Amino acid sequence: MPARHLYIHVPFCARRCSYCDFSIAVRSVTPIDEYLKALRTELAQVASRDDAQRTQLLSPVRTVRSLSGKAARDALETVYLGGGTPSRLGGAGVASVVDAVRDQWQLTRGVEITVEANPDDINDIAVARWTSAGVNRVSLGAQSFNDAALEWMHRTHDSAQIARAVTILKRGGIDNISLDLIFSLPDELRRSWRDDLMRAIELKPTHLSLYGLTVEPMTPLGRWADRGQIVQGGEEGYEEEFLTAHEMLAGAGFEHYEVSNFGLPGKHSRHNSAYWTGGPYLAAGPSAHSFDGAVRRWNVSAYSEWIRRLTNGDSVLEGDETLTEENRIAEEIYLGLRTTRGVDILPEELPRLRTWESAGWATIDSTTARLTPLGWLRLDSLAADLAALRQPSSAVV
Ligand code: SF4
Repeated sequence: MPARHLYIHVPFCARRCSYCDFSIAVRSVTPIDEYLKALRTELAQVASRDDAQRTQLLSPVRTVRSLSGKAARDALETVYLGGGTPSRLGGAGVASVVDAVRDQWQLTRGVEITVEANPDDINDIAVARWTSAGVNRVSLGAQSFNDAALEWMHRTHDSAQIARAVTILKRGGIDNISLDLIFSLPDELRRSWRDDLMRAIELKPTHLSLYGLTVEPMTPLGRWADRGQIVQGGEEGYEEEFLTAHEMLAGAGFEHYEVSNFGLPGKHSRHNSAYWTGGPYLAAGPSAHSFDGAVRRWNVSAYSEWIRRLTNGDSVLEGDETLTEENRIAEEIYLGLRTTRGVDILPEELPRLRTWESAGWATIDSTTARLTPLGWLRLDSLAADLAALRQPSSAVV
């Protein structure tokens, strides 16, 4: 199928958070015009590749001439502005990104347009511009409601700004709001995970994404860990907080539909769900990754290089990888197990899957195995275990 989902990477951040090793461009003043000009150029390139892909897929049933141009392209079902901090583009900048997308693609009537935002960028004027451009979902980087923890993370906002941002978004007509929270913080911060979850639930978001803190080497956090200045919460604490989140959010009506994601019924992230079903998606922006169903491609990650190439009219693609049959099988299993969709069961796998079931890691019905929250704590090893059974090389000859 041609792609119906578009990811746009907006790399700007006001400063680097202590735990973050993403590809970002730290700027006190966001170069909005420079970014938009380059993005428009790249979106035209992405649209041409989309045409070529569609032509290849559909040419036996349509004329080649009808397969290029905006009118022939499949309408997009989701557009996701991720980062970095897309809200650093402000009201007009975000609206211009959506306009640039509309110049190349039609959007479906019920399109989901998500913007990742930091709480301190939310104001009435920006939200009014976003809603008039069609933005209908905001993923807010809350991370914690504990001000000492937010300061330790080098976040640019405090807890009061999170609540204020949610109020402004709802007043402006965006009530599909996801909150990001980080768990497994070092004990010495004395942050109460239960309090954070309770404060998040009280704001009545439609969705939450929860991430366990990981210490990445080239970050301030990595350096603090090297110097022995912090001790990361242990595996036991990680598991306890993950299971606490499952219990509290399920009690508040959220469906734990993916290892890190919880949504009210009907409010799962449609964009991210497209990734997790292994479908194709388009992408633009520095370090953005796309997938056409067989080949994964990625862009140069440095913002300056991305700008340089587009200014010269060059491609920003940095590399690609064609999925082998083994990759495809491993990926299908991993993606299935990380969601409540689960994986189809092959009869010869049943004995192994029954051991997962007895350990409380999975539920099994006549056709499908699904991981439980206990199983999700072992996601990588269980997916590798099943993939090893299913690889072509493991077939008995
Ligand atoms: S706002 Fe997000 S992308 Fe930017 S530095 Fe912080 S964690 Fe990284």
